[in-house]
Amino acid sequence: DLGSTVSVEGDAAVEGDAEGLLGGLDISTTADIEVPDQLVDQVIGQEHARDIVKKAAKQRRHVMMIGSPGTGKSMLAKAMSQLLPPEDLQDVLIYHNPDDGNEPKVRTVPAGKGEQIVDAHREEANKRRQMKTFLMLVLMVAIGGYALITGNLLLGLVAVAVIFFGFQYFMQGDDAVIPNLLVNNAGVQTAPFEDATGAHAGALLGDVRHDPFQSGGMETPSHDRVEAGAIHKGNKGVLFVDEINTLDIRSQQKLMTAIQEGEFSITGQSERSSGAMVQTEPVPTDFIMVAAGNLDAMENMHPALRDRIKGYGYEVYMDDTIDDDPEIRRKYARFVAQEVEKDGRLPHFTPDAVREVILEARRRAGRKGHLTLKLRDLGGLVRVSGDVARAADKEFTEREDVLQAKKRSRSIEQQLADNYIDRRKDYELTVNAGDMVGRVNGLAVMGEDSGIVMPVMAEVAPSQGPGEVIATGKLQEIAMEAVQNVSAIIKKFSDEDISEKDIHIQFVQSYEGVEGDSASVTVATAVISALENVPIDQNLAMTGSLSVRGDVLPVGGVTHKIEAAAKTGLDRVIIPKANEQDVMIEEEYEDQIEIIPVSHLSEVLEVALAGEPEKDSLVDRLKSITGRALDGPVNP
Ligand code: ADP
Repeated sequence: DLGSTVSVEGDAAVEGDAEGLLGGLDISTTADIEVPDQLVDQVIGQEHARDIVKKAAKQRRHVMMIGSPGTGKSMLAKAMSQLLPPEDLQDVLIYHNPDDGNEPKVRTVPAGKGEQIVDAHREEANKRRQMKTFLMLVLMVAIGGYALITGNLLLGLVAVAVIFFGFQYFMQGDDAVIPNLLVNNAGVQTAPFEDATGAHAGALLGDVRHDPFQSGGMETPSHDRVEAGAIHKGNKGVLFVDEINTLDIRSQQKLMTAIQEGEFSITGQSERSSGAMVQTEPVPTDFIMVAAGNLDAMENMHPALRDRIKGYGYEVYMDDTIDDDPEIRRKYARFVAQEVEKDGRLPHFTPDAVREVILEARRRAGRKGHLTLKLRDLGGLVRVSGDVARAADKEFTEREDVLQAKKRSRSIEQQLADNYIDRRKDYELTVNAGDMVGRVNGLAVMGEDSGIVMPVMAEVAPSQGPGEVIATGKLQEIAMEAVQNVSAIIKKFSDEDISEKDIHIQFVQSYEGVEGDSASVTVATAVISALENVPIDQNLAMTGSLSVRGDVLPVGGVTHKIEAAAKTGLDRVIIPKANEQDVMIEEEYEDQIEIIPVSHLSEVLEVALAGEPEKDSLVDRLKSITGRALDGPVNP
């Protein structure tokens, strides 16, 4: 597997690469890095998927790839097509059927033969047309001449016209003998790769064009109106369908038939068009299916189609991150070279610029010791960086270009989140000073890569009946769970009986899609504050998940959450201790915010509650009842 490793001359330690960010690679720019020819060797990480693709190509098996967008699913599917033998390729011809014009005939020939056959037919048709034209001219001259001699002008004109139009009609039939070259693989060097993601029925399954004339000698013969679908163009190659679950069920069913039979007739897809009357003989559809999607896709795709793929192929999960080591960092440097060469117009990167990209890959991984494999987005950063350098007429892309690009290429969610933060500052929805009872600045992730501050307010009131947890909208469940978790603890240390109270919880300015369990520490803190009437410091935000014993468990997106808190002007942020290693905030925020890792709710309260001495007694009580939990093993 030589192509996929980037070799290093001599020892790994190279001067100037102090942190070893380039894995010891000694280059003056990325132009020095050799990019492998084969796509399969350009794939970074995804070892498992790569092995499967190689195996599946050899055995002609279908593959289902599940994973995040931009991790290389379509790249691997394309790579798979390059591994298939091109000598198996075929041309497909559609012929007029003299017995039934609406049932065109289908003929499959080796690649390259199709063009020859069509040419031969066309030549023959031309010859015939020339002969007929000659005959027509002779007749016209003869009759016209006779009419002139006899002085019968009108009759002559009519006769010539009749001959002319008669022959036109007569010659129409000649086109009908020329077959329609539906699939042409002449000169094609690699097996086809057909991306049918989001294709409508016609594009996927083939179609027969509507003929506005339909009859009267003006019509286009039906076999000439037949168009191939992706399933036919992908014959002997790879048919790739991403977001497979979004394909409508009828199309999925037909796709299944095509897979099963290895052939599929083409008919007009729009019901009222003349094309719907036409149905060809079966056209070969011997493709390898690569279906892709995220986890939802698997649940929502047609179960029979999934069984089909599972039963006759492989399912593989794509990695989101990869272990960070010198060898993989060298590959990331090669990735930069790959993206530069693929684009074709970007200046190559200096080592410092590559280091900055690798740092960003670390940051985006959100996990210590890992690099992100969401390489479509990272490729976007490479392109924007190169564009910045190009705009400044630089010969190479430098570190400062990457830094500028990072600012520029913010995702929609990040831009939205920034907007959110600004707007909230206007309305003072985020309180970042003083203390308040029952109000906590929580943190949530928006999209994948941006955090927002989401305040939670709790109010406790005596209940008429059994106590209830009342929250607005979708967040009811989150609130209930958090309160349930905290109620066991509260029962032990508080004199208040929580089961006799109504607890109102409001998520201020929440938005759809906030993930739940990372709010449970926030909710619990707000409830305890409200219940005990102890105020909470408002210059602080928190995130964390809560166990029934009061342990603070790790959550996702801490880096983005911390950055959001800093941007909002908060001074301190509480995070789960187990997340400490995931923190990779940008330099600019490092001095702006204090990060406080905790492993137990009592520590949260110790930090968050204001107003001694109520606080001290509360924290002491909590510690005394959960003391054992605190001494227990640290969370994973
Ligand atoms: P997906 O199909 O998973 O959404 P793609 O295969 O379309 O992602 O990836 C888009 C682009 O991102 C690729 O063309 C390639 O440039 C880059 N890319 C994504 N994953 C990888 C990878 N594992 N190795 C190298 N490049 C990758």
